[in-house]
Amino acid sequence: GNCDIGLIGLGTMGSALALNIAEKGFDIAVFNRTTSVTRDFAAEAGPLADRITPAESLQALVEALKTPRMILLMVPAGKVVDDQIAALLPLLGPDDLIIDAGNANFNDTNRRMAELPGRFLGIGVSGGEEGARHGPSIMGGGPRANWDRAAPILTAIAARYKDQPCADWMGEDGAGHFVKTVHNGIEYADMQLIAEVYGIMRDGLGMDAAAVAEVFRGWNEGPLQSYLVEITAEVAAASDAATGGPVLDVIVDAAGQKGTGRWTAIEAQHLGAPIPVIDAAVTARNISALRARRAEMQAIFGAGPQPITTDAPEMAVLEQALICGKILCYDQGFGMIAAASKQFGWSLNGAAIARVWRAGCIIRSAMLDDMASALEAAPDAPLMAAPTFADHLKRTEGALRRVVALAALHGIAVPAHSAALAYFDAMRTARGTANMLQGQRDYFGRHGFERLDDGTKDQHGPWAG
Ligand code: NDP
Repeated sequence: GNCDIGLIGLGTMGSALALNIAEKGFDIAVFNRTTSVTRDFAAEAGPLADRITPAESLQALVEALKTPRMILLMVPAGKVVDDQIAALLPLLGPDDLIIDAGNANFNDTNRRMAELPGRFLGIGVSGGEEGARHGPSIMGGGPRANWDRAAPILTAIAARYKDQPCADWMGEDGAGHFVKTVHNGIEYADMQLIAEVYGIMRDGLGMDAAAVAEVFRGWNEGPLQSYLVEITAEVAAASDAATGGPVLDVIVDAAGQKGTGRWTAIEAQHLGAPIPVIDAAVTARNISALRARRAEMQAIFGAGPQPITTDAPEMAVLEQALICGKILCYDQGFGMIAAASKQFGWSLNGAAIARVWRAGCIIRSAMLDDMASALEAAPDAPLMAAPTFADHLKRTEGALRRVVALAALHGIAVPAHSAALAYFDAMRTARGTANMLQGQRDYFGRHGFERLDDGTKDQHGPWAG
């Protein structure tokens, strides 16, 4: 065959990626379980049809490819990927490369990498359908040599940040899917922080959706400039065709999730890495889903969020609180990445990760460029200690404190902001309170403690014996 790459799975993401690949000048063969989808896709490819070879069997797909072959899978994560690999293997040669571009759990990618040594690559792809079609952010994981083989195509189709492709090799094994998972956890947290500020505007300050849209539109011109702030303004501004009122007012307040944010929380616990803002965001979605229960509890406990009548914060204070919460969230995300790097021996590069996230993906933002510079300058230091961000935190922490306090006094739930503030306060407390925990542990379990004055370990209190 003469195709540069094959693709299996012409769903939302796969069909968009296939068109993107063809548009960048590569010949691609495509296969889909349901043949009519393959036929329709090829028929609707317009001017790109010349570069697309529709295959109606896996055998035909494999035969259409140049050797050694590269086949990209864009099917639902989990068992489907294993089944697809099993179906492909008998048709492939020892030098052929399988690339899983779905949202795999990185533990599965680790396993597949071990089962297919040198023949597998796991890539995280972010940016939704639009990104896949016109430039996603791509986080690669697996043997470096495999990345290098696929890189000409993957970097060609990726988003660009000032001419630099947002596609890079993150590390060995499932490192690409791991980084994508953390990306999604941060995405949950970014979204939750925004939703909480919206809650203060709506319930505390009585602002309507149009006013909310106006504020977010303004913030998108400043330090918070980002895709999520931009679409927040658009979501708030949109009207509902049926009622003529804001769409926001007709959307049920129960969030869905496909599980990648939850994986971040779970893996962080395995690593012992603190990511409380992301944890709070995942939990907030779980609570949002308990809609009937929330209504029952409001009936028992009172009227819910109260208007903020005195001391109402200026919009600039809310903006600063959001900046502060966002920085603390990213500090946690990059901290988790550093913990994984150590635990799995991956040498993950925080600056390279921040660079890949600058365009194409859902969390793309102006701030990520500064984060890339900060992590470049001091790869082993926490983000919150980097001069630029320490400075931001010092200037915005008062606003975060004020917003969390006002929300608490008025019964407005701001779990991600509260978690960010508690994290900040705990992290900058040199003498914490775990001495009490150690005392308790020694009391009931003879676990022993370390003495503060002379550093001797395995000491016991007078309660012992
Ligand atoms: P879709 O549901 O749109 O498409 C799924 C594709 O997989 C279809 O081509 C479908 O074929 C095929 N498929 C489903 N089940 C099987 C099976 N048992 N055997 C063979 N093929 C099967 O999914 P998406 O394109 O949205 O997602 C694909 C992957 O990309 C997922 O891992 C997802 O998590 C990830 N992803 C999605 C993003 C998004 O925004 N949607 C963003 C980033 C990643 P058929 O036509 O026969 O049903």
